[in-house]
Amino acid sequence: MTWRPIEKPKTGWTVVPNLLDYERTSAEFSWEAVRRELDGLPGGRGLNIAHEAVDRHAAGERRSHLALRWLGKQGETRDFTYGELSALSNRFANVLRGLGVGKSDRVFALSGRIPELYVAALGTLKNGSVFCPLFSAFGPEPIQQRLAIGEGKVLITTGLLYGRRKVKDLRRSLPHLKHVILIGGDKAALAEPAAHDFAALMAAADDRFEIPPTDPEEPALLHFTSGTTGRPKGAMHAHQAVVAHYITGKYALDFHSEDIFWCTADPGWVTGTSYGIVSPLTHGITNVVDEGDFDAERWYAILQDQKVTVWYTAPTAVRMLMKAGTEPIRKYDLSRLRFIASVGEPLNPEAVVWGQEAFGLPIHDNWWQTETGGIMIANYAALDIRPGSMGKPLPGIEAAVVQKQKDGTVDVIHAPDIQGELALRPGWPSMFRGYLHEEERYRKCFAAGWYLTGDLAKRDADGYFWFVGRADDVIKSAGHLIGPFEVESALMEHPAVAEAGVIGKPDPVIGEVVKAFVSLKAGYNASEALKKELLGFARTRLGPAVAPKEIDFRDSVPKTRSGKIMRRLLKARELGLPEGDLSTLESYE
Ligand code: ATP
Ligand code: MG
Repeated sequence: MTWRPIEKPKTGWTVVPNLLDYERTSAEFSWEAVRRELDGLPGGRGLNIAHEAVDRHAAGERRSHLALRWLGKQGETRDFTYGELSALSNRFANVLRGLGVGKSDRVFALSGRIPELYVAALGTLKNGSVFCPLFSAFGPEPIQQRLAIGEGKVLITTGLLYGRRKVKDLRRSLPHLKHVILIGGDKAALAEPAAHDFAALMAAADDRFEIPPTDPEEPALLHFTSGTTGRPKGAMHAHQAVVAHYITGKYALDFHSEDIFWCTADPGWVTGTSYGIVSPLTHGITNVVDEGDFDAERWYAILQDQKVTVWYTAPTAVRMLMKAGTEPIRKYDLSRLRFIASVGEPLNPEAVVWGQEAFGLPIHDNWWQTETGGIMIANYAALDIRPGSMGKPLPGIEAAVVQKQKDGTVDVIHAPDIQGELALRPGWPSMFRGYLHEEERYRKCFAAGWYLTGDLAKRDADGYFWFVGRADDVIKSAGHLIGPFEVESALMEHPAVAEAGVIGKPDPVIGEVVKAFVSLKAGYNASEALKKELLGFARTRLGPAVAPKEIDFRDSVPKTRSGKIMRRLLKARELGLPEGDLSTLESYE
C-alpha cells in the first residue's frame, strides 16, 4: 500500500517552525554558527554541557522559569526552576569534589526517574566527571558488566535498589568502585564501607561551584547501546555534543521558548539523556519527567494536565497506545499538544497516520543511534511527511546510502530507491569518540571517510530516507533482500495485529524463508483461520516473494528495555541456538 504524503501548511502557523526553509538552512549551515548560539564557559574557559543546560539560564532572565517538573508515581509533583537546579547541581558537583572524584572519573547512576538522578547528572558534568546512567530495572549481572567495563568510580543509587540488585555482592568484583551514594537512605547499606547518604552530603555541600575549564573534547557521557544486535557497546561522548543536542532540539523537535516538553524515554538509554535532560534545558524550556511506567490513561492525563506542547516518544509506546484505541483520547483535552516525534525503531506508516487521526497531528519519525549522540535524520515541523520515511538529514549532516566494497572502498549510491548501508560523514559534535575498550570495533565503523551505521536504507528522488533494516536482520530469500520492517508494517495494517517481529529462517532451497511472530489486539484470538487470513493478507500487500511463509502467534514480541524488537532472540529461539546477551531484555529481572 502506498501512503499519501501528509502535507504541511506553508503559511498561517500559530507557532512558526524554526526550520522553515530546509534547503536554504542546510546550504547555509555551519556548526561554528550554532556554537555561537550557545554561551561557552565565562572567560572563554571552554564548553560544558551543564553550563549550557542550566547555569546560563540561571544567570539570566530564565532564573525563575520552571526547568524540571517531576511527576511521582503516586501523583506527587516537584518543581525546580533553573535557579534551583543550578544550585542543586552545584551542591552535587561539590559532593563529588569532596570525595576526591575528578575529571574523567566515571559516575554511574542506577535509579528510577527521580529528581536526584537529574541533579546528579548535571552535577557530574559540572565537575568534569563522566556520567553513565543505567536502567533501574537491570539485574545484577548487567549492572556488574557495565560498571566493570566503565571502571565506575562512583555509583549513585537508592537504598532499595542497592539491596534488590545485590550491589553489596557485586562490589567485591569492582575494584574501581570507590564510593556508593545512597538516595533515600537505608541503614544496612549505609553501614557498608564507602557508602554515603545522598541527603547528608548534599546538605553539607556549598551551593556555589565554579565549573572548571572544560575543553569541548573532554569526555562527558558514557552510554551503552541497547544490545538489540548483541553485546552492548559503551559509546563515549564529549562535552561538545551539547552543540548537537541544542540544534536538534531547535530543528527536529522545534522547541520554542514557552514549550513544555515531555520525553518519555528513560535516561538508561541515550534518548533519555540527550533529550530527557540536556536538549530541552539548553533551550531554557520546561522539561516534564514522569517517574511512572507506561499506562495509556496516565499518559493522556499527563499530556492534558501538564499542557505538554512537544512530546517525544517511541514506536513501541505508540503501538501500545494504538492497541488501546482512539476512544480513551476523547476524554482528554490535548489541545496544547503541537508537535509529536518518535525514535528508536522504525515507525510504521500506520502509526504516523494513526497519530493524525488520534491527535490531529502526525507523528514525526526521526532516526539516530547511541553512537550519533543526537538526532541525525528527521521529519520536520514544516516539511511534508511521507509516512514510513525517517525524513531528511539534519542541516549540517551529510548522509548517504553506500555500498562498502571488499577492498575497503565505499561506493556512494546516487541513484534513488536503491538499498545500501546508511553512512554519515564524520565530524558532527555529538559523534561518539570511541567504544570503551573496543578500539578495533570502533575502527571497523569507519571506511573511506564515512561512518557506517550498520543500518540499511534507501533514499528517494526527493532526498527522503527510508529505513530498510539493520544489516544483521536483513533476510536473503530466493535472491531477494528483505527488510523485516517492511513485512512487519504490512502485517500491522491488519486490524487484528498489535505487533509483529519478522526473521529469516534458514532454508536449503531459497536461502531463508520469511517467518513472522505476531501478537494480537484485544478481542482477537489466535486460530488457524486467522493465520491463513494473515498469510493471504501479507501476500496481497507484499507479493509472494516478500510475504511471510510462516506465522506464529505470541502473547508479546521480545523487546529491549528501550522498546526495540529483538529479532535475534526470536531467531535464536526458533532455531534452538544460544540466546546471547540478554542483559537488556525487557522481562529480565
Ligand atoms: P546495539 O547496537 O547494541 O545492537 P541498538 O542499535 O538498538 O543496539 P541504539 O543505539 O539504542 O542501540 O539504537 C539505534 C538503532 O535503533 C539504529 O541503528 C536503528 O537500527 C534503530 N533506530 C532508531 N531510530 C530509528 C528509526 N527512526 N527508524 C528505524 N530504526 C531506528
Ligand atoms: Mg546499534
